Amino acid sequence: MLWRCGVCGYIHDGEQPPEKCPKCGAPREKFVQLDDEQAQLVTRSRFSNSLHVRLIELARKMEALAEEGIKDNLDPGCVVVFKAAREQARVLAQMAKAEIQTHISKGKWG
Ligand SMILES: [Zn+2]
Repeated sequence: MLWRCGVCGYIHDGEQPPEKCPKCGAPREKFVQLDDEQAQLVTRSRFSNSLHVRLIELARKMEALAEEGIKDNLDPGCVVVFKAAREQARVLAQMAKAEIQTHISKGKWG
């Protein structure tokens, strides 16, 4: 069962809500059990959200690699490729962040 803290939104997995919220300290009474539909949405979204986070990490690594390539500056052709890689990495990271934000606003989080 999933329980959401009514004060801060912390999601707890368990048969019962926690004694108090580990994040904000709100008492057990502040927790509300998610219905099946909400719980399924949260459970299903956890995997997708973790993939988006990993994608952002990879994009950051690609951006750093591209920076090295630009600095290395072997020839103009290399720099074109590395500048394109840097730009695409930034766009991808921002797209993934925007998607996570959409998930949060639709309750696909937790
Ligand atoms: Zn809380």
